[in-house]
Amino acid sequence: MKNNIFINIKEYVAKRKREIAAMVAQRHTKPQIAIIQVGDLEASNRYVRNKIKDCDEVGIKTVHTKLPENASASTLQNVIDDFNNDPATTGVFVQLPVPEHLESCINYISPYKDVDGLLKGSYYMPCTAKGIMRYLEACNFDLEGKHVVIIGRSKIVGKPLAQAMTDADATVTLCHSRTKHLDWYTGHADLIVCAVGKAKFLNCYPIHCPVIDVGINFDHEGKMVGDCFNTDNREVTPVPGGVGLLTRLGLLENVIGE
Ligand code: NAD
Repeated sequence: MKNNIFINIKEYVAKRKREIAAMVAQRHTKPQIAIIQVGDLEASNRYVRNKIKDCDEVGIKTVHTKLPENASASTLQNVIDDFNNDPATTGVFVQLPVPEHLESCINYISPYKDVDGLLKGSYYMPCTAKGIMRYLEACNFDLEGKHVVIIGRSKIVGKPLAQAMTDADATVTLCHSRTKHLDWYTGHADLIVCAVGKAKFLNCYPIHCPVIDVGINFDHEGKMVGDCFNTDNREVTPVPGGVGLLTRLGLLENVIGE
């Protein structure tokens, strides 16, 4: 086991929020995010509430638009367009998932305002990748020359993180469901990022390095757990209270353009 690298995520997030609040307070024009929600899913309501709370805490203005589940594609497109064209709106965020008939509307978000970093050509890094990169920086974890094994190749986590870490001079292996000999890679990593979405997934593999656990799963009692059950004093970011908080912070960083 190497020396501990991770700093306390809750403390880090609280400190960074205070810094962001101080930066926002100095600005003549306050950043503003448009949060668009379709339908009334309980999880989406919770995510939106959290985002509004985060923004309130640091002085970012929010405009929350909630459309009914059966809203038409043209209604959603018009709402997105209005915010795209509104100079007071810094970022446009659509809470996912949206009903299937509206999925393609997300592409109407201007790449300059896509603060979630969802779209191809977006001006922003997806929030989870951004949050993790900033956190590693705060931990003084120098990625140069390190072998980082990322498990999961989604376009919102694995792929952008692989790109960002490669740019930071890490040697990145991006593993996925078709990877052979995953145990070899996990056993030869300096850092593992696991974004698979299966409880205890990583516990079947050799681990000799710190783990950033992105996974969100629910056990049979409905308790939220990550992809790596922490045993043997391994260094693993907690779930809940880990990457989820970093992702929320990543959105704030994007909205203020930091
Ligand atoms: P996804 O759900 O789209 O895809 C899962 C990935 O895991 C795929 O790339 C697949 O190839 C890989 N995979 C599946 N089985 C595998 C196996 N046996 N071996 C190796 N790789 C395997 O990915 P996602 O959207 O990045 O989500 C992954 C997890 O991260 C989910 O639990 C999701 O809820 C969570 N997540 C958390 C946050 C956060 O803020 N904490 C943000 C995004 C995603």
